[in-house]
Amino acid sequence: MKTLGLIGGLSWYSTSVYYKTINQLTNQRLGGSHSAKLFLYSVDFNEFKILQEKDDWQQIETMLTTIAQKLETAGADCIVMATNTPHLVADIVRTKIKIPLLHIAEETAKEIVSQKVSKVALIGTKFTMQHAFFKDRLAKFGLEVVVPGSADQNFIHESIFNELTKGIFKDETKTKYLEIINKLKQQGAQGVIFGCTEMSLLITQVECPTTIFDTTAIHAKAAVNFALQ
Ligand code: GLU
Repeated sequence: MKTLGLIGGLSWYSTSVYYKTINQLTNQRLGGSHSAKLFLYSVDFNEFKILQEKDDWQQIETMLTTIAQKLETAGADCIVMATNTPHLVADIVRTKIKIPLLHIAEETAKEIVSQKVSKVALIGTKFTMQHAFFKDRLAKFGLEVVVPGSADQNFIHESIFNELTKGIFKDETKTKYLEIINKLKQQGAQGVIFGCTEMSLLITQVECPTTIFDTTAIHAKAAVNFALQ
């Protein structure tokens, strides 16, 4: 079994889901008392939130590179950044380490293609919905992407930072998300990417009018596939 280098804390609510999922899948595959080998470097989310608000991606890249290099030196066989938004700098981090970085958008695109879906909605922070790092990767896999209009983008973005990453999950927020997802479905989306690692803590598949592509579950599964390949 290979050893994973997990960068967590962005936020810790979703990191705990990654940790649990990675261990459960490892045990399902190997049986007995097996569990995952991993290093977890968990950051202070507040530091990253402030840098994101300032659009200081240079500093975020420096911090993530330093952590990835520490995990590499410690003996990790790959890097898993357990969050979507900071993947904005993943391509640069990749050039500064020798071990692979399992990219959340690439793994999500592969999963969507395998399910024969061609047009998909993407919801996440504004960075994730607006920047190229996620959308362009989906396009490279031949996928058509729809994102919410600007008022809905604002609502989702604010709810991520003021609620979801603080462990606050409100029914009224869920209702509004479902309205937005319905609008995207009417625009032809055959599924919705939960492009924020905390969203699956707010809405489950049974509540959702379309197929959820949950980046947390997809990325955690890809990490286990890597470790056990
Ligand atoms: N965990 C969230 C994501 O998947 C947002 C937190 C962040 O901005 O890092 O994008």
